[in-house]
Amino acid sequence: MRKKIVAGNWKMNKTFQDAEELVSTIAEELDGVDTKCEVVLCPPFPYLEMASDYADESGLQIAAQNVSEYTQGAYTGEVSADMLASIEIGYCIVGHSERRKYFGETNAQLALKVENLLEHAIKPIFCVGELLDERNSNSHFEVVKQQLSEGLFQLNEDEFSEVVVAYEPVWAIGTGVTATSAQAQEMHAYIRQLITEKYGKTVADNTTILYGGSCNAKNAKELFANPDVDGGLIGGASLVAEDFIKIVKSF
Ligand code: PEP
Repeated sequence: MRKKIVAGNWKMNKTFQDAEELVSTIAEELDGVDTKCEVVLCPPFPYLEMASDYADESGLQIAAQNVSEYTQGAYTGEVSADMLASIEIGYCIVGHSERRKYFGETNAQLALKVENLLEHAIKPIFCVGELLDERNSNSHFEVVKQQLSEGLFQLNEDEFSEVVVAYEPVWAIGTGVTATSAQAQEMHAYIRQLITEKYGKTVADNTTILYGGSCNAKNAKELFANPDVDGGLIGGASLVAEDFIKIVKSF
């Protein structure tokens, strides 16, 4: 049985104090609740250790939002997989569309990041998704296929089994325009089909595929009800404890 996950991507938001309030509220509100999913919080780097302390007590998982493609040394400003592992970070987002767009991250660089994480037993949450133009020109399946082929499909079966995929249509991120339930299911089923072709049905059936893009407390239930949607990667709505908790309870 594949795992259901709701992950909150806080991006570059919150002071330390506000972040601590958010993580402690979420931990408190979910204490003793039988969530049907794993709950993952992705705060900015400087708050990872603080968030991990709450996570240890509450069963939350903590993820980084990025990792270096390099392993160590003279790379000012970078954070390595080894460093994340040393503070027991369990997951890391890789290839978010904002990293691809603003920092020019390529599939080849993302493949290195994935490799570094897996070497340190950190699960990548690997983001794929098409731009609006690409959907309008009907090339969205091709785009996602290429992102998977060049960023993930170099992995062997054991390595790939540690990966979470997040489908995030770029036109839906932070726009308030959500993919329809049918659009999400169609792409998730396509991604699972590609994984089946590459790694076989068992691996594909066990791969968690998250939806991201203006998912909120109102639409999460419908999106998560699709057979190939195993949860969400949540941006804006993860910054408000009440909204995020409603999403977590949407299964
Ligand atoms: C995201 O950035 O991963 C995301 C899904 O953002 P939002 O929920 O705000 O669209």
